[in-house]
Parts: sequence; structure tokens; C-alpha cells
Amino acid sequence: MKNLSLTHQTRRDMLRSLGLGSAAVGIGSVLSSPRLSANTAQSASPGSRNPYIYAFTIGDLEAWSISDGFMIFGQGLKMMYPESERPAMKTALEDIYEPTDVLPLYINVLVVRSDREVMLFDAGFGIVERSDQGWLMEGLSEIGIQPEDVTAAFLSHAHGDHQAGFISPEQKPMFPNAAIYTTREEYAFWRQKDHDFSQSRRNPKSIPGMVKKAQERFEILGDNVQPTAAGARLFGGTVTIENGFGHTPGHALFRIESAGESLLHIVDSVHHHMLMFRDPKWSIGLDHTPKLAVATRQRIFAQAAQSRTRCYGFHIPWPGIGHIGKQGSGYTWIPERQWW
Ligand SMILES: [Zn+2]
Repeated sequence: MKNLSLTHQTRRDMLRSLGLGSAAVGIGSVLSSPRLSANTAQSASPGSRNPYIYAFTIGDLEAWSISDGFMIFGQGLKMMYPESERPAMKTALEDIYEPTDVLPLYINVLVVRSDREVMLFDAGFGIVERSDQGWLMEGLSEIGIQPEDVTAAFLSHAHGDHQAGFISPEQKPMFPNAAIYTTREEYAFWRQKDHDFSQSRRNPKSIPGMVKKAQERFEILGDNVQPTAAGARLFGGTVTIENGFGHTPGHALFRIESAGESLLHIVDSVHHHMLMFRDPKWSIGLDHTPKLAVATRQRIFAQAAQSRTRCYGFHIPWPGIGHIGKQGSGYTWIPERQWW
């Protein structure tokens, strides 16, 4: 639950935002409004008027969901499998007024601050020319976090939308003081010489370039990368790296825990906020090992729905926080109310 108590700081902030001085009258009646109280609790974290920075809490931790922008796949349902189910997917998309000719995905970057660490979960596209991607650094700066302040970073997998942001335009580590945790399996896969993409539905022509980029980025990050066993609990149990294998050979999930609250970052075990929930067997053609990706998704969904776990997704509509509910033979994504 959110802590709705008011601190002096947030009280002052709220008065300022209302254009009232400290001597303002009628504070009591303003503060008695539950809606305003909840808003004020949110501003306990350095807030922002940038609509693509959302502040929230996980127990004692400050957290932000920062949008890095979005991406649109022009292939639409042609990149969804199994092929025979595309008509059913099309109907399901039409039912919720979603486009069927393109597949738009969001890029959500989770930032968490404890009293000791500034933690980043994946880094988006990095600094790019185009205006619809690469917003993370601006967002971090707006909440007062400089690149050198980041102490711990987590790389779920080495696809460009997650890893590219770890590299600066000068081809150096973007967050020089951050250890970058990734699974041993993910690291070993990209670092090896030969890569088995036999189960992947990717265009074979696109694979060598993707592998080369991932390898170059790992090379630049050097010793900052900390290959870590899935199941490892870091920072006194604040972050657990979990097995989310399938989307890539070592795709990681991250469970963040503090003071009895938790958030499960399901990263790319889901790409669309309806399709993969409606039927967890509906898969995107970007999965490295489609069968394993489906099995992993089914396991995560069943556990998260049963345990009512608060979740966070990298590609689902920003800010990407919500719950997974059981619905019929499948599931549904239940976005969490936003508290501004
Ligand atoms: Zn992704």
C-alpha cells in the first residue's frame, strides 16, 4: 500500500503547487481530500511535470517508470505466431480498438533508489537521432539522477532496445560507476563464437548484425558486466534475478522487494498488453526459443495471478505497472491506477 502520510516537505510542495504560501488558510480542508492526499504522497519522491516520468514506491524504495519512447513494428500480426491463430488475434485486437496492421510497443525503464543504491533496469535505446526513442537520459536528469550516480544496473537481455542505452555516443559505458548484472546464460550466449538461431523465426539476414552489435556492446562494457546466477539475491534481498529464459537464452526477470511489498519486472516475457495475456501461447517472432518462451510465460502468469503479484512490463502501455488476472482459459493485464 502507498504511504499516504504527509511530510512537511510534501505539504510544502503541495502548497507551492497550489500557489499557496505557508501562511495559507484552509489547509485542513484541502488536506482532508483523499485524492489530494494521495497525490501528495506521490510527490514524496522527486516528482516531475514531465508526463513520461511516473514516481511510485515499492515499500521503502523510491521508484520511477521513465518512458524511453516507443517502437512500432510495421509487420503487425505477421510477426505473431502461431500463424493459424492470426485471424483470432485480429478479432481480439479489433474488440479492444487496437490497430491490426502495426504492432506498437512501449519502452518502459524502471529506476529504483534505496538509501544506498541507484538501480536501473535495462537502458532503452540510448541517445539516438530520432525523436520517438531515447528519452531515458532526459528523464533521469529531470529527477536529479546523473549517469555517474547509477550504482547498479540490470540487463535483462542483449537486444538493442534494452542494451543500447548502456553505451554512450562516445562508445563508452553510459553509467561508468554501475555494475551491470545479467545472467550467466545471457552473457555466455552472446560472447560465444557460434550462435544457434535454429528455433528463432527472425529473418536470418538480420541475425549477424544483431549478434555483432550485442558483442560490441559487451566489449565496451567490459568488466562492468557481472554475469550472475539466476536466483541470486542482491543488495540484501532487494533484487532477485529470476529465470525468464526463452525470449533469449538467458532472459532475466527481476523481483524487487522492500518492507513487505514487491514488484516483479516481467520484462520481455510479454510484448503486447492483450495478445500474450489472452493466450500465453500467442508469441512474437522475436523469441529465441519460442517453446521455452511460452512455458516461461505460462509459469510466470500462473504464479503472479495466484499470488496477486504487482508486476511491471517493459513493452506494455506506460507506466507499465499492474497485475495479471486470470480470465477464462487465459489471463488479462490489469493496469494499476496512476496516482499523480
Ligand atoms: Zn524488448
